[in-house]
Amino acid sequence: MHILTRHPLVGSDWLGLLLGQSAFTHDDLVRLLGLCRPADVARLRTRALDVMRAHVGNDVYYRGIIEFSNICACDCLYCGIRMSNKVVERFTLQEQEVMDASRWCAEAGYGSLVLQAGERKDPAFIEYVERLVRRIRSEIVHPELPQGLGITLSLGEQTLETYRRWHAAGAHRYLLRIETTHPALFGRIHPPSQTLEARLQALTDLATAGFQVGTGVMIGIPGQSLEMLTDDILFFRDHTIDMIGMGPWLFHPDTPMRDWPQPLSKEELLQLSLNMIAVVRLACPYVNIAATTALQAMVPDGRERGLSYGANVTMPNLTPVHARANYQLYDGKPCTNEGREECRGCLMGRVESVGRTVALNQWGDAPRFTRRTQEN
Ligand code: SAM
Repeated sequence: MHILTRHPLVGSDWLGLLLGQSAFTHDDLVRLLGLCRPADVARLRTRALDVMRAHVGNDVYYRGIIEFSNICACDCLYCGIRMSNKVVERFTLQEQEVMDASRWCAEAGYGSLVLQAGERKDPAFIEYVERLVRRIRSEIVHPELPQGLGITLSLGEQTLETYRRWHAAGAHRYLLRIETTHPALFGRIHPPSQTLEARLQALTDLATAGFQVGTGVMIGIPGQSLEMLTDDILFFRDHTIDMIGMGPWLFHPDTPMRDWPQPLSKEELLQLSLNMIAVVRLACPYVNIAATTALQAMVPDGRERGLSYGANVTMPNLTPVHARANYQLYDGKPCTNEGREECRGCLMGRVESVGRTVALNQWGDAPRFTRRTQEN
């Protein structure tokens, strides 16, 4: 994959014309994604921020993420907690540890949390999650949070019945990345038992169950082109998707993809990841977009850079430090030894350093969800 800058109308302000549009063709989006000259990228970034402020505001919403188990029945070829990785030590946090982290989240004013884990479909796991969600919703009350904590789940593909149970228990948002919408590329990075059809069905089921639906892709997968990433953006635009989380594909030494050469330099991969955020903001103005930890794994200020390209959500890690080393999805995951208190002070300053305000004690639902539910 190469980053291309195309100048179709030499001499005219073709980029100004393109950025001024409110609707984009496939070709427009490919051109925007491929921008790499600093002056062009700066204009893309400025436009994405204008669109963000006009549609979702200047606030940044926090989602405290608790990675409560690395036991996984899936075997994604890129992922450090894939079932076949025998090196990693498996863990599941005790119920009380999750409750303590959730209480800390509410007291810190983060407003919402994400419960993430490897994928399991067995009854014991489904019940564990249901119980956690019920307890968090009913037991964690705080004067600043009269509705309690917002709860996002990120627990992979499940049946519609399971999604309905978890939604009825009180979870209201769900993240399930499609990883890529390109059928052949999806097939190359997953075992045959994991299909794009099943992933699409799960995303449909999540909306049916009443969730705010989040998805996203990895960027810079070997064999991925700007055209494929553009198809991904059009998928976000044309389907029931309220939230987007995207980040670079990153090397992990204990996965089959460890030997796959990354065709982009680090600088190119980072820029493409940031361009993706900006272009998604232009194409889907009302969605929530996360500045992901994978960006921070590339450069220490990666999350702030994501915010300054149009993202409006960030996910501070609340996983107890003793478990973090075993939740390494990729090499170099940041803040492995940093407790949530240290992270809290550091993050607020980082967000404000890019001219953004932190919206404490709020759920920060995606305006796209509010709009689509009000329409029905
Ligand atoms: N089990 C849940 C699921 O499948 O959605 C949540 C956990 S899963 C590990 C969360 C995300 O981590 C995946 O959707 C994937 O995009 C990301 N991820 C895993 N390995 C990665 C890697 N090597 N580089 C970048 N992102 C990775």
